[in-house]
Amino acid sequence: MFIIQDVEDIGMAEKKKINYVRIDMPKQPPYIRRRNFKEVALGYTEEMAVEEASRCLDCKKPFCVEGCPVEIDIPGFIRRIASRDFTGAIKTLKEKNCLPAVCGRVCPQEEQCEIKCILGKKGSPVAIGRLERFAAEWEAAQPHMDLPEIMKSTGKKVLVIGSGPAGITVAGDLILLGHDVTMYEALHVPGGVLTYGIPEFRLPGKVVNQEINYLQQLGIKLRCNYVVGKTKSLDKLLDEYDTAFLGTGAGLPWFMDIPGENLNGVYSANEYLTRVNLMKGFQFPKAYTPVIRHRKVAVVGGGNVAMDCARTALRLGAEEVYIVYRRSQTELPARLEEFENAEEEGVIFHFLTLPEKLIGNENGWLKEMECCKMELGEPDQSGRRRPIRVDHSEFRMEMDACIVAIGNSPNPIIPDTTPGLEISRKGTIVVDETTGKTSIDRVWAGGDIVTGAATVILAMGAGRTAAKAMHKYLTEM
Ligand code: FAD
Repeated sequence: MFIIQDVEDIGMAEKKKINYVRIDMPKQPPYIRRRNFKEVALGYTEEMAVEEASRCLDCKKPFCVEGCPVEIDIPGFIRRIASRDFTGAIKTLKEKNCLPAVCGRVCPQEEQCEIKCILGKKGSPVAIGRLERFAAEWEAAQPHMDLPEIMKSTGKKVLVIGSGPAGITVAGDLILLGHDVTMYEALHVPGGVLTYGIPEFRLPGKVVNQEINYLQQLGIKLRCNYVVGKTKSLDKLLDEYDTAFLGTGAGLPWFMDIPGENLNGVYSANEYLTRVNLMKGFQFPKAYTPVIRHRKVAVVGGGNVAMDCARTALRLGAEEVYIVYRRSQTELPARLEEFENAEEEGVIFHFLTLPEKLIGNENGWLKEMECCKMELGEPDQSGRRRPIRVDHSEFRMEMDACIVAIGNSPNPIIPDTTPGLEISRKGTIVVDETTGKTSIDRVWAGGDIVTGAATVILAMGAGRTAAKAMHKYLTEM
């Protein structure tokens, strides 16, 4: 038996037989999953969840909570799973997080709560994300879902624009506090990136739907197909509401600005993923939106978005799929789990490689991609080593599709149509960091529209901060 010396409550640690090895989560084998859109990770059974939860030391000073942007009582929900009180576990989770089934799947726990887990010092940290997913799945499988208590109506009306994680969090928090909340969404379905971006094999649409249904059961009203700034301006809508929250995200794709980017067969990651996920192109012709099944596909970029595109292309039947990334594997911004999944499925990685030209055939379709090799220099502003072009290193690869996944800018419609809204040079909305308040009276903002493209949990954390400030304003006005 090992004793962890830096756990404050040494007595408790001594009493507990510490297990440093986490319970694996079953997955579809790579050779099967690379050709289907079903979820890759299959989740814990009750027995697995209880065993994994029993590894938690229930530290008196839980560092894991410090790592969670929405401050979930992590030891509290895990303790309840360990004692088979699954109802209590999901209740504890939902006190701070209205999207546990989503966060359990896509949050970068390895950089947040799990990296702080004391067990990680000598072995593997408690699988907090997997346990969160388990609790949410357990609840979804029950015939009835308990709804939390909603406070007496305040008679105040709240407008939430954008139904991604930031908007959902604001809506979820303020409805419980008794306000009347309406969420406006430009697309025909809610969920933001959770619905149009992250693929079915990582986050099934039915999971997002369940979370949205839950919000609707709490009484949140939803208006889809409504582009604020086009259908009606923010100014005009503010006449009907007491406060507004802008959670409109970062969905404007960047391109490489190289010759040939207008060729057929070249996509932005957003277009490609939207066709496949939101419009269900993978079910064409059963679904109306077609998506071409390319043979050799290059995805440019190294983040989660790039991994999602590459793995989607494989599932659509591509013979060869490459990730082309200008830095090395060490700098890869994607979650380690997603990189490993992509590699297992057969995605080929070209590190230290930069596309410089796309070459088409006589009909305007992509046929080749010209790249050069890179080497790493001194660290740049991001702290990562700067990629430097190696002269005379050009080479060509035959390719019939290229998906550009190098980043996104904030959605510009509301910033462009709202006089007085302060915007940064990068197009993000400027807010007071402690409250999310914008330069406009009665308007708050948060999520990717403020930070630029980031993560689900950071968008939720920003939503929580804004909701607190909006509630204070609404109750003191
Ligand atoms: P969004 O989710 O972008 O939602 C904004 C919503 O506002 C959209 O539905 C949009 O249609 C709507 N909208 C925009 N303009 C208007 C308007 N004028 N009127 C009405 N509605 C409007 N993060 C992770 O943590 N883990 C991951 O594994 C991960 N994978 C990702 C994979 C992909 C492919 C992508 C694209 C992103 C991924 N992210 C991941 C990032 C994460 O999804 C985002 O950081 C997060 O969704 C941001 O939330 P948000 O609410 O700010 O914006």
